[in-house]
Amino acid sequence: MTPYWCELAWLGGDTAVAGVSIEVDGDRIARVDRCPVAPAGAERLTGLTLPGLANAHSHAFHRGLRGRTHHGGGTFWTWRDHMYALAARLTPDTYLELATACFAEMVESGYTCVGEFHYLHHAPGGVRYADPNEMGGVIAAAAEAAGVRLTLLDACYLTGGFDRPADGVQLRFSDADVDGWAGRVSTLRDTSTVRVGAAVHSVRAVPAAAIAGVEAWSSTRGAPIHAHVSEQLAENAACIAATGATPTGLLAEHGALTDRFTAVHATHLTDGDMEVLGSGGAACCLCPTTERDLGDGIGPATALATAGIALALGSDSQAVIDPFEEARAMELDARLLSMHRGMFAPGELAVAASSAGYRSLGWPDGGAIDVGLLADFVTVGLDGSRLAGTVGDDALAAVLFSASGSDVRDVVVGGRRVVRDGRHVRIDVGRALAGAIDAAWSAPVPG
Ligand SMILES: [Zn+2]
Repeated sequence: MTPYWCELAWLGGDTAVAGVSIEVDGDRIARVDRCPVAPAGAERLTGLTLPGLANAHSHAFHRGLRGRTHHGGGTFWTWRDHMYALAARLTPDTYLELATACFAEMVESGYTCVGEFHYLHHAPGGVRYADPNEMGGVIAAAAEAAGVRLTLLDACYLTGGFDRPADGVQLRFSDADVDGWAGRVSTLRDTSTVRVGAAVHSVRAVPAAAIAGVEAWSSTRGAPIHAHVSEQLAENAACIAATGATPTGLLAEHGALTDRFTAVHATHLTDGDMEVLGSGGAACCLCPTTERDLGDGIGPATALATAGIALALGSDSQAVIDPFEEARAMELDARLLSMHRGMFAPGELAVAASSAGYRSLGWPDGGAIDVGLLADFVTVGLDGSRLAGTVGDDALAAVLFSASGSDVRDVVVGGRRVVRDGRHVRIDVGRALAGAIDAAWSAPVPG
């Protein structure tokens, strides 16, 4: 057994405790003890140790868009044009390189578990690869290489809108019908570090009649199911015009809103939507840095919490990869809306960043430091310029409100050290990102 000794650790509540030893057996936590002095031979984790942090909503290849979509302003839809231009070029090789580098950036920034909302399934023109799950396999291989725990949320994507078929690059996303989607994903298997889940890309991309088919597949597997929900007002208006229901109402009508469901974004919800989500035991995943980047609005975090909805967090478009920035945005955006402080306590933000995300991704046995749970944890150094002077009782709040991913010093996933002294143990992340992004954009657009 490997003993770790944490100078400070967050075990729940709003403050950290000093001197905690964690014994790991295989990929699980075997023992947690208060221990003021480091036991002989223990690996010291200096700073504040948090449980594993979950990125509950990611599109890894969007990392290649960073900095490239701001010229001339634009809208969500012009941003999407850039995203489609990148999606059109990706091959299994360039996707593997880009996703590996992106996941390595996540791990180095403190994420230990990622939910990859995966929709780039097929070759250009919608042609199936010899292995129809070639691209899902690429994502799993990237997560393995980067050392991050993965939930592969395989997204059903069938149409280009309420009134039109998939077209152009969207053909790479589409399985033509829900049975084609279900047949393909049914061959994907869970492993000790990868779980397979389902996604309804959006109510734009999955006809109402197909939603129940995605839910039925995920129900049979006991797997999580996610959907982009009410990211923009235009999406709500189009859904109401086409179906008479809000996106949440439509998903509820077709049985998708269970305690395995997570609504991603959930930015523009009605009171009725929140009631339905809350009564179904569903979760919501806010993506504050992406909503900010795209100008999509501020998610109603306090109203969702009041409705009894668990909140998770995701980096989505990778505009920023920083678990602390997402967590503090939950509170700081709520302060701007309400003109009050203290809408969420530090412990509540930490839960959103850790166990709520793990649960949303189908890992209820992770995201906390406790006996029997997955041995995933993250240590944030307190001696850098951002956090120097922090004392024990204030450490959790200082980290949540002021740390950046660059303050992460050590990361352990499934009992294995993945980051040491602030660096990924196997990957030069900056170099890997630069090479992968250049290769992805250099590839020709298929005719
Ligand atoms: Zn998304």
